[in-house]
Amino acid sequence: MRTLTGRDLATAIKAQTQVEAAAGRQPRLAVVVATADEASLWYVRSIAKAAAGVGVACDVVDLGAEADPGRIHETLAGLSADDAVHGVMLQTPLPAGASAQELAAAIDPRKDVDGANPLSLGRLAAGLPAFPPATAAAVMALLDHYEVPLEGRRAVVVGRSTVVGKPLAHLLLDRHATVTVCHSRTRDLAAVTAGAEILVAAVGRAGLIGAAHVAPGAVVIDVGTNPTDDGGLTGDVDFAAVSQVAGALTPVPGGVGPVTTALLLRHTARAANLP
Ligand code: NAP
Repeated sequence: MRTLTGRDLATAIKAQTQVEAAAGRQPRLAVVVATADEASLWYVRSIAKAAAGVGVACDVVDLGAEADPGRIHETLAGLSADDAVHGVMLQTPLPAGASAQELAAAIDPRKDVDGANPLSLGRLAAGLPAFPPATAAAVMALLDHYEVPLEGRRAVVVGRSTVVGKPLAHLLLDRHATVTVCHSRTRDLAAVTAGAEILVAAVGRAGLIGAAHVAPGAVVIDVGTNPTDDGGLTGDVDFAAVSQVAGALTPVPGGVGPVTTALLLRHTARAANLP
């Protein structure tokens, strides 16, 4: 079984981004935060640190966990109108009553570097240029990096969120995979996933995907990030069990995560240099 780590790929993407960032206007990313969720704040700090490393300026705009939707909307619209800002991202979770999709509609699609504006998903579905969500793009980048053939392959995506499952299904379709999307109402999940040559788990349930869910030799990409009791992270895939069956599997941490951050920065550098 091959372990498909993301660290080297992330390093390569960041090195290329640093060159792009230095060649044109200095890219600036604004991350809007309205939560006290520790995992979320940790992720934002890791974005800011990675940005500094590649010459992308990063402003964290913390509105506080009590921010009302009107204030979040106004902030996103203001950043979208600010010529000095090239990428705008809305971090989740949001305060109760705030809808990430409704609010993300305030992000200018040209600055929507994490593909959160419903327009970006619509353009992606229509095959038009758009920034895909960085996580969905990271799955595709990993498959390409490890030269996994996609055309005509049976791909199963578990999870149908607008940040991962749905955009990823479109990206896989664009590459001529035969795509099935599963979710919480899917009957006999294992029977569906066991037919996959490429299986992507994007659910948020530790160990949901076991050996019985995986065909021998399948390529398995684990997007899930679930906190463990000891303060670490674990994926949606039971790594020990599935590694006995799969042909290739991404680890958590160290798989999709680092590539996601690197691509968010690449998107920002590209947004800064859009004509
Ligand atoms: P989400 O919005 O909560 O969506 C979860 C999806 O999983 C939903 O479509 C849900 O189905 C489905 N689901 C839930 N229980 C299921 C079950 N028992 N069987 C089959 N499907 C089930 O989550 P998300 O934002 O897409 O994130 C998914 C995971 O990826 C999380 O662990 C998140 O932390 C992680 N993530 C990682 C990165 C990274 O860079 N590595 C980035 C983003 C997210 P319904 O639609 O029917 O409810």
